[in-house]
Amino acid sequence: MAPQAKPRKSAATSSGDIAAPLLEWYDANHRELPWRISPRQLAAGIRPDPYRVWLSEIMLQQTTVEAVKSYFRAFLEKWPDVKSLAAAETDDVMKAWAGLGYYSRARNLKACANLVAAGKGAFPDTEAGLRELPGIGAYTAAAIAAIAFDRPAAVMDGNVERVMSRLFEISTPLPDAKPEIRTILETLVPPARPGDFAQAMMDLGATICTPRRPRCMLCPLRDGCQALANGDPELYPVKAPKTEKPARRGAAFIAIRPDGAILLRKRPERGLLGGMSEVPTTAWNARIDGDTTIAGAPFAAAWQRAGSISHVFTHFSLDLDVYRAEVTDRTLPAGSFWAPVATLHGEALPTVMKKAIEAAIPDATKKPFPHTAKRPS
Ligand code: SF4
Repeated sequence: MAPQAKPRKSAATSSGDIAAPLLEWYDANHRELPWRISPRQLAAGIRPDPYRVWLSEIMLQQTTVEAVKSYFRAFLEKWPDVKSLAAAETDDVMKAWAGLGYYSRARNLKACANLVAAGKGAFPDTEAGLRELPGIGAYTAAAIAAIAFDRPAAVMDGNVERVMSRLFEISTPLPDAKPEIRTILETLVPPARPGDFAQAMMDLGATICTPRRPRCMLCPLRDGCQALANGDPELYPVKAPKTEKPARRGAAFIAIRPDGAILLRKRPERGLLGGMSEVPTTAWNARIDGDTTIAGAPFAAAWQRAGSISHVFTHFSLDLDVYRAEVTDRTLPAGSFWAPVATLHGEALPTVMKKAIEAAIPDATKKPFPHTAKRPS
């Protein structure tokens, strides 16, 4: 419910009021992140590598810092710069991205690397230039411009929106409040250290101004915070009422050859999970009576129900009934292939498909292990 309007205590509104205490706090309390150049390193003249900033920002879209860390390190190990990523096979990039979700990011990542490497090998250093590249929207362009190139860009992620909503008691629900927040934020970005300012706002939101129980006593901006002065910070940001996600249903089929290989196929390049691998499934039907039976199997076999899994996508939730069958080698449906179980953990399998396979064969996508009746003695 939207908070009632109330008399407001005036807040800190100038760049100096916010930036100075925030940067002082950041110098002492910033998070150590694998892609970050610390204030101390910056002061010593070490500059952020735009490739690393870009890679981390693409990975962080819709994904938590903790989930990104290991992927970021693995990508850097395989492809330490934009030219090596451009030279990589797209399939290998998709495989390395598997499990991180939102797979259009991986396709755009590769397309962007190809474009940058085909040019001068350098990323554009302005928001406008960055926005022309695949996969780089307003937020990511602002973040790269500020962090990698010290441009005074207003960088606004979920953490920053929360801090700003509370500092200025913004009663417009998100996401409608975004333009209002951006307009205020633009006036606060300092001409010096805009990259650190952006990262400080993010760190403040992630560690102090948290969604629940913000630790206002430790906040460097508490003196000017309207939500703290006037009431309950947790009332902000105001959110629009949630609409329920539509549900879809279907069936997934785990066909296992005597040597343990599993039948996979590649999804079309475009669309949801584009270019990723999957086990055969029926259509994901929005009807409650959608087909979840073996009638939709890729071929006749002794299919047995192995369980069911659920997965939530951005725009719908999916329930899949999972069937398994041990089958002999056969002519495969077009676009299908056998994947040895020992290589499944390296396949470009999205999380929903890993869940389906593991409903039939526990741990199959985590590590290689024999799982058929004909396992070696
Ligand atoms: S004082 Fe509290 S609510 Fe206000 S910005 Fe700081 S942590 Fe957030």
